[in-house]
Amino acid sequence: MQLRSRPLAAIVFAALVIAPTCHAAVVVRVLGEPAELSPAPQVKDEVLLGAPATIVGRLGCRFMSGGHDSLIIITPRDRRIVLRPGSDELTVDGRGFEMPHEAFMAGGELICPLVPVLEAVGAVVRWDADAGRLDVETRIEAVDVYADDEGTRIEVRSELAIEGTLFRVEDPERYYVDIPGAWIDGLQQDRTYVNLGSVLRVRWGQFEQDPAIARVVVDLRAAADVRWEPDEDGPGGSMTVGEVDGDEPLMERHVPKITRILAQAPDADTTLVTLELSDPVPIEYDVQIRPPRVVLELPDAAPIMPIAPVSVAGELVSSASLEGDDPPAVTVVFRRGRLADRRIVIDPGHGGRDSGAPGRTLLEKDVNLDVAHQVAARLMALGVQTVLTRDSDVFVDLYDRPELANRLGADLFVSIHCNAMPKPNTGRGTETYYYHARSRCLGLVMHAALVQALGRRDNGLRRANFCVIRETEMPSVLVELMYLNTDEEEALLRRPEVRAAAAQAICEGLRQYVEGTGTAQERLELGS
Ligand SMILES: [Zn+2]
Repeated sequence: MQLRSRPLAAIVFAALVIAPTCHAAVVVRVLGEPAELSPAPQVKDEVLLGAPATIVGRLGCRFMSGGHDSLIIITPRDRRIVLRPGSDELTVDGRGFEMPHEAFMAGGELICPLVPVLEAVGAVVRWDADAGRLDVETRIEAVDVYADDEGTRIEVRSELAIEGTLFRVEDPERYYVDIPGAWIDGLQQDRTYVNLGSVLRVRWGQFEQDPAIARVVVDLRAAADVRWEPDEDGPGGSMTVGEVDGDEPLMERHVPKITRILAQAPDADTTLVTLELSDPVPIEYDVQIRPPRVVLELPDAAPIMPIAPVSVAGELVSSASLEGDDPPAVTVVFRRGRLADRRIVIDPGHGGRDSGAPGRTLLEKDVNLDVAHQVAARLMALGVQTVLTRDSDVFVDLYDRPELANRLGADLFVSIHCNAMPKPNTGRGTETYYYHARSRCLGLVMHAALVQALGRRDNGLRRANFCVIRETEMPSVLVELMYLNTDEEEALLRRPEVRAAAAQAICEGLRQYVEGTGTAQERLELGS
């Protein structure tokens, strides 16, 4: 059996060695779709040679034969390109350019270096010589929006032919057109605020890169008829909402305005900053805690007047909300708090028959409980009302943990865990998880405190759909201190001073969050 199998193995091995040296066919994609070229393109002296006619035809170019087998390509924007067999010159609107190889006839077709010719046509050409792949795509040159109360027309203009597919999405109501093989990321603007009739705004961006897909989205305020049709007189296409005449003049688009900014201080620890707006607009904000700074971004709105700085008494943003009333307004609440005023639930992960992650000698449930006890002791010494979801080695249902915090009306919730990888000794470091946007700021501050105190690898603040942080109604985080099934980190977690440092860091994170003196600096998006 062994002797017989040997030649077979040798044959398989030889085949594997030979395969990569075989010359793979060149794959051509035009506007994201595979294209079969005849004759097949080939690489000669590192130059990709092929017949351009099929490709440029798909891009909306016309072509014709000139004298002496020359090929004339006319692009949709009337650029004129001439190629002659036996010549390495490429003529673009009368100007000559040298190609890396001369054009020649084969099988009745004019063959030429494809890359310079397709670039002269105005295509976006990506030639990957190693993979043997040629992508021929186009660029969106402009998105122009025409609108009045009756309708909106969005004209998508490109250098070469494009094809789009219209899709509808409900809740919120919107339509989008995907344009395969198109690049739209070079445009200066990425949206136009319309706010007329049923159209709220039009926005566009690069949805995919390989192959390229450009996406144009119309956000609606109410259901409406939306159509997509190719332009009659040239490349490009139009999305039309409702009825808008072909020669309707471009309306001055309506830009929402920030009409007023108000700052009030109802008590010594609180400042409310209110931005009144002419229209409801989406808002994002940046929170930087050291130095204390909040940057509100209202990408669809323009201030009606120069805005002077508004001073605030507090250091931390507790909340920001968009009110859709009349007039719409954004209110940001800055409140300096005291840890002693807070009610905090500490959740030691696992317990009882659920041991959590196993180390060589330690069980996760025991480490979690010990650290949680130390956190609770420290918090209670500071006068914080502290509740543990379990106080001993007992099993507690996953849903009962957030339920307890919700019932108590807790202000903050921290779930303490240690991590494990399926394979021992492969993981290391500290992670912090949050779910709701309202918990992100706590997560940033808590994670920074833990990473600083434990000095392990910073695996970052992450978002995850874990029950305990999803079901809690207050800011909540889940911390994974270290990896219990990694020998080095288990040894650390066995040391009392390391557990004490973890407990202190969790208390420090809570204190910094409440008092607004943390060090985290990252974008916080307004959300649920
Ligand atoms: Zn766990």
